[in-house]
Amino acid sequence: MSSRSWEAERRFLFLCLFAFGLADLFLLGFLALGFWQGFDVALAMLRSLSGLGPLALGGCALAVTGLLIGTARYRSAFLQFARRTRELEKEKGRCQALLTSLGDGVVATDEKGRIMLMNQEAEILLGWKAEEAHGKSGLSVVRIDDEKGRSLARGRHPLRPGKTARAKTVFSLLPTFYLRRKDSTRFPMVATCASVVSEGQAAGAVLVFRDMTREKEVDRAKTEFVGLASHQLRTPLTAVRWYADMLLAGIPGAVNDKQREYLDLLYQSNQRMVELVDAFLRVSRIDLGTLAFKREQVDVVRSMRAILQECRPVLRLRGLHLKTRFTPSLPVLQTDQKLLEIVFDNLVSNAVKYTPKSGTVTVVLEGKRAGERAADRAVRRASVFLTVSDTGYGIPFHQQNQVFTKLFRADNVIGKETSGTGLGLYTTKAIVDQAGGEIWFRSEEGKGTAFYVLLPLKAERSPKGT
Ligand code: ADP
Repeated sequence: MSSRSWEAERRFLFLCLFAFGLADLFLLGFLALGFWQGFDVALAMLRSLSGLGPLALGGCALAVTGLLIGTARYRSAFLQFARRTRELEKEKGRCQALLTSLGDGVVATDEKGRIMLMNQEAEILLGWKAEEAHGKSGLSVVRIDDEKGRSLARGRHPLRPGKTARAKTVFSLLPTFYLRRKDSTRFPMVATCASVVSEGQAAGAVLVFRDMTREKEVDRAKTEFVGLASHQLRTPLTAVRWYADMLLAGIPGAVNDKQREYLDLLYQSNQRMVELVDAFLRVSRIDLGTLAFKREQVDVVRSMRAILQECRPVLRLRGLHLKTRFTPSLPVLQTDQKLLEIVFDNLVSNAVKYTPKSGTVTVVLEGKRAGERAADRAVRRASVFLTVSDTGYGIPFHQQNQVFTKLFRADNVIGKETSGTGLGLYTTKAIVDQAGGEIWFRSEEGKGTAFYVLLPLKAERSPKGT
């Protein structure tokens, strides 16, 4: 090979390397400057290389063409990327505007339970700024108190980290819960919490909550009104009863049979009205937290026998069988006798009312020690265990979650049994709760129902109310 051609090859190789080196530089340059500027620079380079041999020029042209094609591709990818980024920014802005304008507070946490998002309403309600709350534990920012004012146990907190959520779960808090603001004042709230699941793993939670102060005030005003109205109604009703009593006793003079029959009806209707008014009064006291609860020695068997005695005429009228089993020498309970008898009366009269002819009502009272089982539950403290079961209509499965709510009456009994207020079980549960006990039930439509009550011998709570 002549030294001249060797020199040409070296120059060619050098130029090729130079061109590829430049290609990298151009790549970066073109991305920054844009396609057209990059194209101009490439043309200028071609012109400056036009003095070289045709082979070198061809190689350079090839390299630059490849470079231009590559750059064009990068440019379109870059433009697409920029467009997507703009779209995402817009979308993010829209979502933020949406969150901000929401009337409810929204707090979202990550998988470790740290706050990662808080909307404007949440800032106002909680008294925290989103920036200062960001990264803090959800439990320390969203402090929840239960209905008794105790701070919610960590295990019950909806934003607790490490929830092993395999599926999306939604959790609701009733308006009996309170949220503590940063300054430790609090307000009643209602909330829904959904766990966020990503690829089968718990990725955090979203809590949506609302201040219920106004609704609570309205509710309280209504309850107070019902309480007051019931109280006022009692006086004239009591007077009607006295006078009906006197007429029936023949004090103002003898009454004939027809008059006695009408007076009896008058007396019974008045009595039903008195019971209804008493039920309203009790419910309003429960709702206002002013139900007086005495602590006295109560012989439960004696109380139950008295209730059953009152039920006997109805049992006979309806052709029902009554079975009882009372464990001998049950310990006395420290509770409010009158309220306990309301519990017994509600459960027994329901069993009687909602059992068709020839059915059976069974009442069992037994003692349970801590650690023993009562139906399907473990007993935590020494208690008296009451079971009232029947072979009646049962409660439809889809309505069983409403059983202890105010004014609930199941669809399957409304047509069959018109006398009912839907206040009995609500009151019963409130009394059992106040006695420190537990109440639950099992029911199958068309087969029957069993209500279970566990009443501790010594209640943990102190009496409250007036
Ligand atoms: P009510 O005055 O209607 O009896 P309660 O609060 O005592 O009100 O009961 C609420 C509803 O629960 C009843 O209307 C009935 O639908 C259902 N229920 C209660 N006890 C029984 C029972 N032993 N058998 C069937 N349904 C019952």
